[in-house]
Amino acid sequence: MGDVIVGIESTAHTFSFGSVTHDGAPSNSTSALYRPETGGIHPREAADHHSQHAHDLLQKFLQDNQISNDDITAIAFSQGPGLGPCLRIGATVARTLSEQLEIPLVGVNHCVAHIEIGRNQTGCDDPVLLYVSGGNTQVIARAGDRYKVIGETLDIGIGNMLDKFARNQGIAFPGGPKIEKLASEWHALNPDADVSDCPLPYSVQGMDLNFSGLLNAAQLRINEGKELGQVCWSLQEHAFTACVEVAERALAHTGKTELLLGGGVACNERIREMSRLMCEQRSAEATWPEKRFCVDNGTMIAELGRRMLEVSSPILYHESDINPSLRTDHTIVEWD
Ligand code: AMP
Ligand code: MG
Repeated sequence: MGDVIVGIESTAHTFSFGSVTHDGAPSNSTSALYRPETGGIHPREAADHHSQHAHDLLQKFLQDNQISNDDITAIAFSQGPGLGPCLRIGATVARTLSEQLEIPLVGVNHCVAHIEIGRNQTGCDDPVLLYVSGGNTQVIARAGDRYKVIGETLDIGIGNMLDKFARNQGIAFPGGPKIEKLASEWHALNPDADVSDCPLPYSVQGMDLNFSGLLNAAQLRINEGKELGQVCWSLQEHAFTACVEVAERALAHTGKTELLLGGGVACNERIREMSRLMCEQRSAEATWPEKRFCVDNGTMIAELGRRMLEVSSPILYHESDINPSLRTDHTIVEWD
């Protein structure tokens, strides 16, 4: 395939390899998803899953994309934020490949990688990112040499909230896509429905969000005998409206005119539609990458690694420690 930068993603459920060429053409990612048998994600079990799959997944990725060791010119990995045990597996594989192949190593900020793969894929230039994933919910925009967090969840991530609600109804992880299906099927049969028929809290606080109250209230509506489809629909309406409201205020505040969606929840057609409608009303543009680049993937890590290596040196071995609580605005943005 020629020269490529390989990226490794391992912040949470997903262990994934991907690559980009030096001019930014992305490969497909090869990924393995940890699905807990019961309950939520167990960091050590997820890390065990990642280490068990690492070898075979890398071989499959190289084979599928016809990449040989000689083609790989650098290794990028997620340095944070994420679950420590999971991050450590990705970092260890990255260090090993870097040593073995004698190629540069670059540690990247996972949240910033969502922005850069979005810019790469959609052609937007200076967006507000609405980053809605399992563990993260943030509204981010570039200010000077940083991507600043303008608003974020004060408790759990929106995807985590959807997954937990689904799990309580006996729906397996990931629950978000199933909730979307139940919501849209119910709404097709009840097109005139009003959210006040299934009231839930509206959880915007200043520029921030929270989702645990919404989760509890949705469960209460189920306990009171509301139909699952109706509660799924109302839950989506409330949670997505809150996110899109904060995103709109971020556009107004920064004067930017592009809204980019990223993270697994950005696969949802309803949050896309709400974003598009909001942007239309203020002559802005809403955009998002293909689903395979919304969810966590190794290709986005490779893309940010590529951008960083264009303008700065690779990291040294002793600088390759993971940082589970790495903040979006910690990373200095030196690339265009
Ligand atoms: P990520 O953490 O970015 O890899 O994304 C995983 C999260 O995205 C999980 O919480 C999923 O439930 C959620 N997700 C994936 N597809 C959808 C969808 N169509 N609607 C809502 N949530 C989704
Ligand atoms: Mg993510």
